[in-house]
Amino acid sequence: MRAGSFARQLIAWQKSHGRHDLPWQGRGAYATWISEVMLQQTQVATVIPYYRRFLARFPDAGALAAAAPDEVLGHWSGLGYYSRARNLQRAARIVAQQHGGVFPQDYASILALPGIGRSTAGAICALAYGQPRAILDGNAKRVFARHFAISGWPGTPDVERALWQRAEAELPGEEATAYTQALMDLGATVCLRSRPHCADCPVATSCAALGQGRVAEFPAPRPARTRPQKTVIWLVCRHGREVLLERRPPSGLWGGLWGLPESTADPQQTALAFLGSPPDRVQELPPLVHDFTHFRLRANPIQLDYRRRPVLSGEARWLWLDLADMAQAPLPKPVRALLAGLA
Ligand code: SF4
Repeated sequence: MRAGSFARQLIAWQKSHGRHDLPWQGRGAYATWISEVMLQQTQVATVIPYYRRFLARFPDAGALAAAAPDEVLGHWSGLGYYSRARNLQRAARIVAQQHGGVFPQDYASILALPGIGRSTAGAICALAYGQPRAILDGNAKRVFARHFAISGWPGTPDVERALWQRAEAELPGEEATAYTQALMDLGATVCLRSRPHCADCPVATSCAALGQGRVAEFPAPRPARTRPQKTVIWLVCRHGREVLLERRPPSGLWGGLWGLPESTADPQQTALAFLGSPPDRVQELPPLVHDFTHFRLRANPIQLDYRRRPVLSGEARWLWLDLADMAQAPLPKPVRALLAGLA
């Protein structure tokens, strides 16, 4: 299949104007996979230091499969969406057990791994193996929606289907690596979410949104909705420089991370129930607000100081964390921020 002019222009542009110094480029499928998963919800500049630390500690699927889950989460801590880290390790174990430790090359096997969807599988095939597979990450969605004037919010199934059809139709049979990188680079450096640099765009002459003077209309925004608020009380039980943390359930919000014990009713009674003794001092700390995609969390922290360290039953569930050891601990971002204020 010959490349159409859209693909040809992008490929030529990528060679002279694209990004060629990203640390995962040309490093094989494992590195591509880790970077693509990190980039699913996070910007390149944020990802790079996490990626370097992660690869230094877990250089291949075998090392990732064999690591303690807490260590993997600790290396992910701050990136958010922790199910990505848990799925990475589940997938690494499958690679180790079912593929002899070598990352698979065929699209179906890659797509079958936990945490890898259609676009990520396509990106790994194209970037690591040069296979002509379509991608549709956030940048590609924006480029296709604008260039081909595809209306509607990309979160709706019909619009997503139309975008995938376009992504498949434009895919060149050759130079899949340069073409895929070009789509990502164009979205990240030229066809920006706000104020795109259309004067520097290699496909400006054929861009429907630009031609119609409607660039700002594509892609259509998510329909407005009110975000529900969930309020919790966090118990900050302190013994000197130590703070009591509770292991969160393995799935759900911040699954498997260490959080602060929560209370929905009387905080002192809740703390008494698991600590067995009343605190020596109680004080309210400033509230914290953290926005998730589907709701807003408002946490009201209450600090409970203990002169003698209470003895807890069910040790595996609890951790007295010395604030000096916070950097290595797998903590949700707002918990880390709160504890940083105490250190
Ligand atoms: S011309 Fe502008 S809106 Fe169209 S693809 Fe290029 S940067 Fe995006």
